[in-house]
Amino acid sequence: MLTMKIIDLRSDTVTKPTPSMLEAMFQAEVGDDVYGEDPTVNALESKIAHIFGKEAAIFCPSGTMTNQIAIRILTQPQEEVICDRMAHIYNYESGGIAANSHISVRLIHSPHGKFTPQDVLDNINPDDIHFPPSSLLALENTVNKGGGCYYNISEIQSITQVGREKGLKTHLDGARIFNALVATGESPSSHGECFDTISVCFSKGLGAPVGSALLGTRELIKKAKRVRKVFGGGMRQAGYLAAAALYAIDNHISRLSEDHQRAKILETEVSKLSYISDVIPAYTNILIFNLKNNINPIDFSAWLKSKGVLANAFGKQSIRMVTHLDFTDDMLENVIQILKQF
Ligand SMILES: *Cc1c(COP(=O)(O)O)cnc(C)c1O
Repeated sequence: MLTMKIIDLRSDTVTKPTPSMLEAMFQAEVGDDVYGEDPTVNALESKIAHIFGKEAAIFCPSGTMTNQIAIRILTQPQEEVICDRMAHIYNYESGGIAANSHISVRLIHSPHGKFTPQDVLDNINPDDIHFPPSSLLALENTVNKGGGCYYNISEIQSITQVGREKGLKTHLDGARIFNALVATGESPSSHGECFDTISVCFSKGLGAPVGSALLGTRELIKKAKRVRKVFGGGMRQAGYLAAAALYAIDNHISRLSEDHQRAKILETEVSKLSYISDVIPAYTNILIFNLKNNINPIDFSAWLKSKGVLANAFGKQSIRMVTHLDFTDDMLENVIQILKQF
């Protein structure tokens, strides 16, 4: 029986390792990373730290873990982190900020999750015993919930500069930082200078099966190692996974521009459809569009699924489609034809 080929646009996490990536994994030299003895993990950590101009890095099982470790090592209980209301650390980490770090959250309300230096100033608490002390500023680049929009380096510099002048620590949730860097053509090290810690995902657009890294000073990463242990994230022969991440860094960064182009074509085609009310521009590899009010996004997503296309309902009237390594031009053409049938 011929099975329908599923086109999966739910996320860029759905990719499977390519044959060459698998080969690199099979070839990996490994050791016990809890003892610091896995040469492939060590190579990955020093390579990714070097790329961003940071002293050290720590390989972790997920981006949620790297973000949560960063928040934990950069704050004390009772303090407050400032982030956008769209931030992944606030929306999609299952209340981890409260559970793991015992701090409160100040949400900035900005268009598409991209805020300004003034927003930061407006949300820093005065030194008064009624208020939690503002201590951490967290940015996301690209912004997942904001349709993959990104900050350029001058925006980041001015935001983090006002934060630092006010004594805030700075963390970047760079789950999709390479999408931003490919879109702007800017250097990773310029971002490295602006943040105390940076979280980078290998399992999103870069196409590795598992893993993220947290980057920072040697001293901070030493603290991070202890927190990773208490979170249960110390891994043993993790070099097999680190090899996939190293392969991804060497082979899958510049091709992200193809994902961006396909998302842009989808945006153009979706904009022409009569049942769409509006479309957030596909800044990078994420397309979010809103259905007209008479269409339920859950029903629409179920209809798409019946046609072999997976896309998540994403809030009130929205549908999100994410392009990635396993999404080809043929699939793009198919999706466009299917969308026209609704
Ligand atoms: C995916 C993602 C993460 C981390 O997710 P994990 O599934 O835990 O690896 C963090 N931040 C953003 C913006 C993300 O999109």
